[in-house]
Amino acid sequence: MEKSVSKAIETINQIRKAMGDRLAILGHHYQSDAVIAHTDIRGDSLELSRKISGLDAEHIIFCGVYFMAESAAILRRSGQKIHIPDVNATCPMADMAEAGRVEKTLEILQTNGRKIIPLTYVNSSAAVKAVVGQYDGSVCTSANAKIMLEWALKQGDGVLFLPDKHLARNTANALNVPDETCIILPEDVIEGDPTLFVTPAMTDDKQFVIWPGYCPIHEEFTMDAIKNIRANEPNALIVVHPECSPEVVQASDGNGSTTYLIKYAAKAAQGATIYIGTEENLVMRLAAKYKGEKTIRPLMKSQCEDMGKITLENLASLLENIENSPPVDVSNDIREPARLALERMLEICA
Ligand code: SF4
Repeated sequence: MEKSVSKAIETINQIRKAMGDRLAILGHHYQSDAVIAHTDIRGDSLELSRKISGLDAEHIIFCGVYFMAESAAILRRSGQKIHIPDVNATCPMADMAEAGRVEKTLEILQTNGRKIIPLTYVNSSAAVKAVVGQYDGSVCTSANAKIMLEWALKQGDGVLFLPDKHLARNTANALNVPDETCIILPEDVIEGDPTLFVTPAMTDDKQFVIWPGYCPIHEEFTMDAIKNIRANEPNALIVVHPECSPEVVQASDGNGSTTYLIKYAAKAAQGATIYIGTEENLVMRLAAKYKGEKTIRPLMKSQCEDMGKITLENLASLLENIENSPPVDVSNDIREPARLALERMLEICA
């Protein structure tokens, strides 16, 4: 073990012990084993969001990417401070939807008096969640996307789903929303002025309007990988995350959130071989857990660089300075409408 790593572990252990209940460390399933070993609570985005309001800790460290720490900062109680070991750990998918462009797009879509309900995947900035809250919309995770889309479709004349086009299409497919009532907006809205690329006429007969973002990690899973496994190991099972393309999802034996994938691995019969299409840290952790009982392999090699920015060293360094570290915060004008959007989801999925 490198000296810097053993020093970091010593520091983390000492400070956790000294702070006791004043500190809680939360970790997303995509974190490395080394970081996960030092977390008090592990989970997917929905599970971790639910925990925030019930925590008594004064300092809450979020080992994940920035939008997760922002969501925690929106839901935190007064006096609680939210921290992330590296503020540069951001989610490229969340960065594909910028709040100003989302609001401008909603204005265009509503020009003809249609009420369009925005529904944002939790992988989005606090500012986007605030826009969504202001326009009577809500938030979803991969675990509850079906419930939330059903809800949103009943609230107005149509839904704008963002930022993940694959989760959007996979969820619409699961609910049998007809293809001809769906439209994916041009990719130019990710970085350009929506007034140049979106018109009310484009979407007037559409019930489901989809922002064109995607997760660069899950988009890497290909049909070729699935075809190879089917040809060489016909008894192997393949399960994937719904951030994968609809073709990959449809060719798999099941799809769902990280919690679904974990449960699928747990329930699979002894001796089963399961290929899992999601971030590799989680897959390798499951492979180690079930070694000797079942074979678990990554569908393809795929690591999220941003999740990997959280390390033992920067966790230790944050802990050493925690009393003076500026917490992740969200201004009140963003926090209140964003909280409304998140709380709608938590109430609907209670
Ligand atoms: S795995 Fe994809 S969605 Fe998750 S944080 Fe990384 S880029 Fe974002």
